[in-house]
Amino acid sequence: MKHIVLASGNKGKLAEFEQMLAPFGVNMLPQSQFEVTEVAETGTTFVENAIIKARHAAQITGHAAIADDSGLEVDVLDGAPGIYSARFAGENATDADNVTKLLATLENHSQPSACFQCVLVYMRHHKDPTPIICQASWEGVISNQRLGDNGHGYDPVFIPAETAGQSAAQISSDDKNRLSHRGKALQMLIAAMQEKGVL
Ligand code: IMP
Repeated sequence: MKHIVLASGNKGKLAEFEQMLAPFGVNMLPQSQFEVTEVAETGTTFVENAIIKARHAAQITGHAAIADDSGLEVDVLDGAPGIYSARFAGENATDADNVTKLLATLENHSQPSACFQCVLVYMRHHKDPTPIICQASWEGVISNQRLGDNGHGYDPVFIPAETAGQSAAQISSDDKNRLSHRGKALQMLIAAMQEKGVL
């Protein structure tokens, strides 16, 4: 059994990673089990922030670590909120605050194009000079109102290209895992880890 720490406090993400990696004999450990403190995400790219989080978790726990960094890019906002997606409406903003600010910011635009981005990083140890890095995106448009109750974050206002007008909060979790930036990046990570003999 291989132990890998997930550098995230999000229980939904832990469940998703556990489900995908269990068939490969991987035991995903939540970083909370090791009392890993929050690390400042000081990078200016998703890649940098994912590496910062994976390195921090690997250093404190002594285990290999996986981190993800994700966010929403809106073309007419020059890619904002981007790496600041979780803090778009302020340091302690809730998902609802961020969506409200996004809708207000885009008030004069009709269904502007946007995409979710996800970067996943696997580090064998905290000094790993060649982390495995995978990136995937999910294209769509932003609705002018909230639609649906599933999912989290910006899901109620994100209408993917593939779902015939339904928002990411109106589709099933199975469909979301198949289509989403995180689901696709995770498939890529598994393939890359297999290729490198990690799995
Ligand atoms: P993190 O990767 O959990 O830090 O997410 C960064 C920000 O992007 C948060 O505000 C999330 O709500 C948002 N985000 C990332 N992935 C998704 C998604 O699949 N749906 C909705 N919002 C997302």
